[in-house]
Amino acid sequence: MGSIVAIVGRPNVGKSTFFNRLIQRREAIVDSVSGVTRDRHYGKTDWNGREFSVIDTGGYVIGSDDVFEKDIDKQVELAIDEADVIIFVVDVTSGITPADEDVAKLLRKANKPTLIAVNKVDSNKNMLDATEFYSLGLGDYFTISAINGSGSGELLDAVVEAL
Ligand code: GDP
Ligand code: MG
Repeated sequence: MGSIVAIVGRPNVGKSTFFNRLIQRREAIVDSVSGVTRDRHYGKTDWNGREFSVIDTGGYVIGSDDVFEKDIDKQVELAIDEADVIIFVVDVTSGITPADEDVAKLLRKANKPTLIAVNKVDSNKNMLDATEFYSLGLGDYFTISAINGSGSGELLDAVVEAL
């Protein structure tokens, strides 16, 4: 399958939005039932001439909070097993939540390159709010906006470097 990059994080942080943006250039997105968007879970993309597979973890229903902590843990553990690099997505508008801390704990224990993507930094206004994510203990973070695409170039440079 080649190199695998997994996108993990609690619901609603923007994992699927970011995933769709990554694979958009290669594959069309099909929305089947309105209100219940079926996410594709695997896709291929490339950056700086390097091709890799991307896994979007975390269920089928966009916008649903109805995911149990243990299910998130399971997704993260699978990602740790399968992926070469993990992108841990968090949400600047909510700050760190207990579910984020839970995911961070699993990732700190794992010996796997992990990059934090602080998402929903749609403008410079909430750039400073991102600093709190240092305290997750996973090092430096990347600020991105999955909706408008800003920041994703720097993040992908680091992803490809870590592969
Ligand atoms: P997932 O559950 O982690 O896959 O999150 P989704 O990709 O389904 O996104 C959850 C919600 O956050 C949706 O309403 C998205 O439109 C919104 N969202 C995702 N990325 C961004 C972003 O960069 N900025 C803002 N403002 N909203 C975002
Ligand atoms: Mg999703």
